[in-house]
Amino acid sequence: MAENTYDLIIVGAGIIGAAVAYTYCKKHPAARVMLMDKGAEPATHQTGRNSGVIHAGVYYPPGSLKAKYCRQGLEDTLRFCSEHDLPVEQCGKLVVATSEQEIDNLNTIFERCQQNDLSPERVSASGLSKMEPHIRGEEAIYVSHTGITDYSAITSCMLEKACSTGALEIRYQHAVCGIEEGDAFTTVTCRRGDELKQFRADKLIVCAGVYADTLIHLQGLDCEFSILPFKGEYFKLHSRFDNITSRLIYPVPDPAMPFLGLHLTRMIGGYTTVGPNAVLAPGKEAYNNHQTSLAELWQLGKSPGLWKLLWKYRESVVSELATTLSKRHYASLIQRYCPAVTEHDFSPFRAGIRAQAVTHDGELVQDFRFVSSARILHVGNAPSPAATSALPIARAILDRAFS
Ligand SMILES: Cc1cc2nc3c(=O)[nH]c(=O)nc-3n(C[C@H](O)[C@H](O)[C@H](O)COP(=O)(O)OP(=O)(O)OC[C@H]3O[C@@H](n4cnc5c(N)ncnc54)[C@H](O)[C@@H]3O)c2cc1C
Repeated sequence: MAENTYDLIIVGAGIIGAAVAYTYCKKHPAARVMLMDKGAEPATHQTGRNSGVIHAGVYYPPGSLKAKYCRQGLEDTLRFCSEHDLPVEQCGKLVVATSEQEIDNLNTIFERCQQNDLSPERVSASGLSKMEPHIRGEEAIYVSHTGITDYSAITSCMLEKACSTGALEIRYQHAVCGIEEGDAFTTVTCRRGDELKQFRADKLIVCAGVYADTLIHLQGLDCEFSILPFKGEYFKLHSRFDNITSRLIYPVPDPAMPFLGLHLTRMIGGYTTVGPNAVLAPGKEAYNNHQTSLAELWQLGKSPGLWKLLWKYRESVVSELATTLSKRHYASLIQRYCPAVTEHDFSPFRAGIRAQAVTHDGELVQDFRFVSSARILHVGNAPSPAATSALPIARAILDRAFS
């Protein structure tokens, strides 16, 4: 095999790319596999900037890929962590209704849990304050399966295990800027500083997160969605709140939105965070508002579906915007279920940007989505719970790419 020729090239060193590399290399240690990322290390974007929750499959419609892969992913993630001595804690989660109006949606979530093979428990207002003395609500649902972990550590471990088979080579600071599918192989062009390099592969799997649509277009494929960047801002709570709850506390989410609302999260490391909100970011990697450019803003403004989405979900857009403009308002949403916390207890914490597919009609794509051609498969939409679901997603991708 020529020097620059591979059986499989994977783009993206987030948890999905790492899970694909790990799963494939374990099964095919004699293969030649390359994983490339434009960054300098793994898990620098969504994977290293999330809530660290191992979801159990509470919200997802039965029959959806999210429901299926999340349920399998929960077991896979727990097993992977215990096999490789990675931090994990199955602390359970409470979804708390704070008003009578939220109880209908809480009932729907309860049914969803049952349909998704979980065994949820109903918790009364008094039961809730016994379980969690700092939490208030009208009623709650308890799901014991939910856990927490460190997805950056999982990603690094998967890559290390894949490299140790001898099959995987990793190239950081290689930004893909060309994809050409031929009859006999695919050519991937990438930029490293001023240098352009080309590699050939039998198969190419692209796990590019927020740049999924850009790379689909780079291949010249039609794509019926754009990826919009939804920033999630968190705060770390003062250390006196490190053990404020023993479980994860979630509000009842807006059923129209794929985002789960501002939750109170015990983190691996022993501290507690609140967040994330969901506001449109001014750029795909604009973690701070100045990390953008006029060109990128223009590009974002031209995204098909953006203006329709903003209009369709205007109430949520305005209420999320309020959380970014006012810390006090942000804190008031946490106080609905945890009255002890105020904005004075907040310290800055890294933000994350969700890669969320939106159709040209302005609809949020709710389920995982893949786009493929003969030799290439792109992960099109893999928002939460894709970190939980990374191993089953990787198996599904490989089955589809090599079928
Ligand atoms: C705020 C927030 C909270 C979340 N909470 C949870 C949670 O608690 N539990 C859960 O299960 N999920 C959660 N998620 C979702 C989860 O983090 C993502 O679904 C998952 O990390 C997606 O992984 P990925 O590998 O697809 O993407 P990423 O981690 O974003 O990785 C994509 C990689 O592709 C690389 N790339 C892009 N373009 C190119 C290019 N041209 N050339 C080379 N490389 C390129 C990037 O540099 C990046 O490293 C959350 C996400 C966010 C943002």
